[in-house]
Amino acid sequence: MITSNPIQIILNNNKTDQQMVGIDIIKSPIKYEILDLLRHGEMNFEEIVGNMSKSKASISMHLRDLREEGIVNYRVDPIDNRKKIFFLESEFLGSIDSEKIKEAHKNQTRTLIEEYVKKGDIEFATLLTNTLKSYLLELGIDISPILKNIGNYIGEYLFNQLADENLDLFLQNIRSYWLENNLGRLHFNTKNHIEITCIGCFESVYVPRSGEANCFIEKGIFEALFNKFFNFDLKIEETKCYSMGDGKCVFIIQP
Ligand SMILES: [Zn+2]
Repeated sequence: MITSNPIQIILNNNKTDQQMVGIDIIKSPIKYEILDLLRHGEMNFEEIVGNMSKSKASISMHLRDLREEGIVNYRVDPIDNRKKIFFLESEFLGSIDSEKIKEAHKNQTRTLIEEYVKKGDIEFATLLTNTLKSYLLELGIDISPILKNIGNYIGEYLFNQLADENLDLFLQNIRSYWLENNLGRLHFNTKNHIEITCIGCFESVYVPRSGEANCFIEKGIFEALFNKFFNFDLKIEETKCYSMGDGKCVFIIQP
């Protein structure tokens, strides 16, 4: 039984009534669990049931509600037409979870500011990005999908400045931009897929360790830059990060 009150924030584009705001707040722990599963990919009913410790009847009822609200939809399994495959039809924007407000997060933003005071020469953009993210996490608010979207917008804008038809020159332009703006030192490896290493990453080098990759804005920027270059939707994962205790951030981009 989940005793905390997790809240998911969903952008629901399916609301047809103009008066309604397209933001849904999901407070039910069971719905939260279902959405949490579907965020990672589509699933049929049996798989959803298998991943939750709730009765079939209860899960079925909540799935119906979510479908009626336009948050979740399903398609018939092409292999077995008795089965339904459920998927998220709305955009997950973030969550607020009181359980996440752990002791370790308390006052972390103040500690971060003190670290910056000691260093003395932090770029304003870095200061703003990191204190904003840190304080939201301190409050149990995870808006990583929004941060990645912001990164996408910045990436689309930067592409106009950094674009080159030649991949090597394009990478060189990105590397120079990062250096000039103190965002970090980039290294690219393009043998099998594109691997980007960032040393001194602006988004995570000074942030407290959380055990999870933290560079959502940077990830969004790279995603947009390379999607535009290749004119193709690529997958990007951050596999190493300062916030995970690694001495660098590493992003892997593949089709
Ligand atoms: Zn990182």
